[in-house]
Amino acid sequence: MPVRILPDDLINKIAAGEVVERPASVVKELAENAIDAGATEITIDVVDGGRALISVADNGSGMTREDLEKSIMRHATSKLLGDDLLNIKSMGFRGEALPSIASVSDLTVETNGLAMDGGGNIKPSSWASGTRARVKDLFLKIPARLKFLRSDRVEMMAVVETVKRLALARPDIGWTLNNKWKYKAGEPLIARFKQAAGDDAEGKMLEINAVDGELKLHGFVSSPAIRRASGIDQYLFGNRRPVKDKVLVGALRAAYFDVMHAREFPLCCLYLELPPEHVDVNVSPSKTDVHFLEPARVRDFIVRTVRRELAEPIRELGIGAQSHTPINEQWFPASTEITGGQMNMSAVPATLSLIPDSVVAETLELPLGFARAQIGNKYIISENPEGLIIVDQHAAHERIIYEKLRAGGILRQQLLIPLVIKMRSEQAAAVLEIKDKLAESGLIVESFGDSEIAVYEKPADFDLDWAECLLAVADEVMAVGHSSTLQEKLHLKFANYACHHSVRSGQKLSLEQMNALLRQIEATERGGQCNHGRPVWKKFSFDELDGNFERS
Ligand code: ADP
Ligand code: MG
Repeated sequence: MPVRILPDDLINKIAAGEVVERPASVVKELAENAIDAGATEITIDVVDGGRALISVADNGSGMTREDLEKSIMRHATSKLLGDDLLNIKSMGFRGEALPSIASVSDLTVETNGLAMDGGGNIKPSSWASGTRARVKDLFLKIPARLKFLRSDRVEMMAVVETVKRLALARPDIGWTLNNKWKYKAGEPLIARFKQAAGDDAEGKMLEINAVDGELKLHGFVSSPAIRRASGIDQYLFGNRRPVKDKVLVGALRAAYFDVMHAREFPLCCLYLELPPEHVDVNVSPSKTDVHFLEPARVRDFIVRTVRRELAEPIRELGIGAQSHTPINEQWFPASTEITGGQMNMSAVPATLSLIPDSVVAETLELPLGFARAQIGNKYIISENPEGLIIVDQHAAHERIIYEKLRAGGILRQQLLIPLVIKMRSEQAAAVLEIKDKLAESGLIVESFGDSEIAVYEKPADFDLDWAECLLAVADEVMAVGHSSTLQEKLHLKFANYACHHSVRSGQKLSLEQMNALLRQIEATERGGQCNHGRPVWKKFSFDELDGNFERS
């Protein structure tokens, strides 16, 4: 086949494939241009999730007629002064956003009394100063791309997320989205953060402020008292640019290693500043991935700084410290304590059992054997003819519920009074998007106003804190989208929540309860496998035990 040079329009469309993925990316590109133009107020309007209209207006420098004409040309930028791609102080520099957007929509740019359409034709306009870019009918000319857009609600949710990140990147700028989400110029950073991440962050954020040579880190991280089910409220900035970066995210995880489970995520709003030549922002067209010149040093700096800040509240909250009940009090309880209206079960001896010997003998032959004892209020020790078995009671219970959900045929129970859960409107949108999947897991939800969800039916078999659970589910959908494994994840999440409210580790069980749990696990499909989460049990054969004691 002959080699040919592609026409400009096609080149722009190809570039648009990378730069303009969805309405939120258009908002991001246009808002970045407004930031670069020195705007102090940026007003964004989005109609039908951005399909019908995206408008970004700023009070920045505006453009002269010549600049306006050039702005829409491919690889035209005012931002790379020399040839140094590593010395970038602006948000844009590739000079491809406007031509790309123009190639896949009906674009108008207005500035200083002029209006230019996507073909570069200029007419007079009433728009006096600053710039307004209006994008109509995004992807209308490219049905293949249109098909990839999700519901208006979900696209809007992505726009809200994008604006939130930009607003946190630039607290000095006032931001307004659809006249509904408003971030006031110059408000304290913590106020802006709470608006973005939710009121529950109140009083739970720790301030970070550290310098190491030319590296600087400031902002907030959450105390271990608050966490999310995904990285949704982790706002990370490199030289004031919102970034999603493996080095930064990994450093944060490492810093919280001892105080948070791997499935939980701290909140943060962290600004890393380093010399522009120490970071390459030109790794991807969307400019959210970055390359650090010294990733190990950046990582180490963040881990050290955050850990130091975390050390204080961990001591205060007593996290990590063991509760020390004196031994003789456990063995010889003075009286059966009553705490908070409940009997303190740890005072009851575990061996108090009326299980007849014949039942014990029969049970010993079963795969998970006869439960003899519970240790640490979390492990069940049982015996069968081959040896010793240790069962993690929490994992066991989780697996039982999970497999029940997975097997389908969940009985639903109607709630007498629908449960109305308040959440952020983008979280509500996320929950509604997976309505059908939730129904398959036994939960019937409906929209209830803009930022509320009503639960009408729930799985009959268990009661959870549905508000907490749905918020976690929403965060996960927002973070990972509508993946093929969503149903499995929902089941797992439900199971996880369900067992937090029942046989959680830390609960004392009677021998009868322990044996009942073992029988349920034996009856559960894949009861012993660990393809989902943690192992449920481990066996130690007599051979293994003998080996340890040098018996043969
Ligand atoms: P880049 O931002 O990478 O330079 P763009 O295609 O986004 O490329 O924009 C091209 C040029 O148009 C910019 O370099 C800038 O000079 C001009 N421009 C775009 N939007 C604005 C705006 N809102 N205000 C002032 N100038 C703008
Ligand atoms: Mg730009």
